Amino acid sequence: MSTEFIPGHHFTGHIPYEASVIAFRGNELLIDVKTFTWPQYIHVISATSIDAEWHYLGEVNSQPCFTVQLDSSLSAVLPEDYDLVPLRQLVIAPDAHIFQLAGRAAQILEWSKTHRYCGQCGSGMQRHELNERARVCPSCGHSCYPRINPCVIVVIVKGDELLLARAHRFTNGMFSALAGFMEAGESAEETLVREVREEVGVEVTNIRYVTSQPWPFPSNLMLGFIADYAGGEIKLQDDEIAEAGFYRFDQLPFVPPTGSIARLLIDQVVRERQAFHQQLISE
Ligand SMILES: [Zn+2]
Repeated sequence: MSTEFIPGHHFTGHIPYEASVIAFRGNELLIDVKTFTWPQYIHVISATSIDAEWHYLGEVNSQPCFTVQLDSSLSAVLPEDYDLVPLRQLVIAPDAHIFQLAGRAAQILEWSKTHRYCGQCGSGMQRHELNERARVCPSCGHSCYPRINPCVIVVIVKGDELLLARAHRFTNGMFSALAGFMEAGESAEETLVREVREEVGVEVTNIRYVTSQPWPFPSNLMLGFIADYAGGEIKLQDDEIAEAGFYRFDQLPFVPPTGSIARLLIDQVVRERQAFHQQLISE
């Protein structure tokens, strides 16, 4: 079943018992991993503390949906029939909306946790009263919204080969697209050129935007590009990249799972090269 999600910020009245809840304990959340269904309010209420902050996310399949941080004490009893899984595990969920919704919830909880005090004057922040996801300082009027950090991710193409890199933090031997955070004042294209130069020392051209994906670890927005190799020898930024190279589209190393934007970009290049070779054969 596909998920229909209508985002919202404001919910009035009591939370209905049958409302869906994306309930986190630390970086893990409750879900039935066989059916990919969320617990309901009635299932999780006894596992939340009295002062827990409930955030309305909107409607999922016509049901109101909330997110909350569960009571982390050992005495809090979690509902049976649901599994506590790391958010990352949902990247490969069959319905992409599952990961996207859980990621939205994670980012809102992270923002709520890290914006309890005003960054300008230090007073305690309050919820925005209007239909906005914001916090407002009662003393100085400063307001803050969930912060999103844009990143650029790129697959570089050289003929039939893709430039992929293994970062030191990928301990499972995975090779992925190059990625980096945007700096203040940069365009996405400028970030891309700088990051590629810094990480592997090559130059790129013909930069094409493909798609984007929210990446809630903790609050990134990945802007996905494909670019052509323009010159230079691979020279690694040793503190970040363990290994990088050009790999033929039909002889790729271990790459990220389906569901991630890195894999989507890699798959797109592979399809383009396959189509190119098919055309060569048919001519
Ligand atoms: Zn203030």
